[in-house]
Amino acid sequence: MKYTPSIKRTTTQPIDLAAIRQAFQGWSNSPDPLTKLTRRLSTTLSLETQLAILAEELDSVIPFDALSYRHKIAHRDFVFATGMGGPHRCEYRLNLEGVFYGTLTLNRRKKFSDDELQAIEMIISAAIFPLRNACQYIAIEQAALTDALTSIPNKRALDEHLRRASLLSDRHGEEYTLILCDLDHFKAVNDQHGHVVGDHLLKLTAEAIENAIRNSDSVYRFGGEEFAILLPHTGEQEARDVADRVRNAVASIKIDCGGTDLSVTISCGVARHMAEEAASQWIARADEALYRAKAQGRNCTRVFATIG
Ligand code: GH3
Ligand code: MG
Ligand code: MG
Repeated sequence: MKYTPSIKRTTTQPIDLAAIRQAFQGWSNSPDPLTKLTRRLSTTLSLETQLAILAEELDSVIPFDALSYRHKIAHRDFVFATGMGGPHRCEYRLNLEGVFYGTLTLNRRKKFSDDELQAIEMIISAAIFPLRNACQYIAIEQAALTDALTSIPNKRALDEHLRRASLLSDRHGEEYTLILCDLDHFKAVNDQHGHVVGDHLLKLTAEAIENAIRNSDSVYRFGGEEFAILLPHTGEQEARDVADRVRNAVASIKIDCGGTDLSVTISCGVARHMAEEAASQWIARADEALYRAKAQGRNCTRVFATIG
């Protein structure tokens, strides 16, 4: 999309560069706390950095002992805290155009005066637009890493996490294992019961896998009817047990289709990360194990065995 600014020249006067330069210097070196605050906030979209800037600038005007901020963004708790306690507290619920953007709390040993409270309110008001932008940025980033149908992390999130896991595995010798799972004969489910039922089954499968794994493990929608599970601090044998637990959990899903219960099974391929191995090779080995599980009858787990 092309943006065409609708600027109409209203003057034929030559530009007064000196005045602009002076204004720019005034703006970039201004000791005025609100100009300084908004100028600094505009340099980042990181909510954490923005809150650190806000804390610094607020503290230079109204000293306080602690600042905390909390908000639920994209179903996750975001918490920021700096400083320690103090029995006196002022708390602000940040609202902009009817939308809530979190709670900001200041604590202090000494009571806040009315003038101080008014000053704090003005400073927070000056920060609210950048804070709103930072909250929206987190939500957009989160959406880009989440699968819309199942609400679990998507392939893009998996790629990022696999790259990080490969690095940690190589640098610190941490053990990571990957399980790739693929629903068996899923095309037949769509063909016989329609895509709506197919979609519902995919959502139930994601839930069943999430419930069957530990908190430290994570599940991703890898593709259409394929899921990936990343298990930190886990070797092949333990991962095989997790895969079998996942298979049992998926096999016990039942959808009532007008008197008959629809159920499905899933096949799993397991591969442990090998030293110096790129994420793509690691996935390829898990996929090879999955291929064997399919070829050897489905509804089973196969491990790409490594030595050592
Ligand atoms: P196999 O046991 O060999 O894996 O057989 P399969 O039928 O599961 O595999 P195949 O690759 O032939 O078909 C996968 C099916 O998954 C086809 C496609 O329509 C379906 N599928 C992929 N994504 C979605 C989705 O988002 N929703 C629904 N309802 N179906 C999907
Ligand atoms: Mg498939
Ligand atoms: Mg399949």
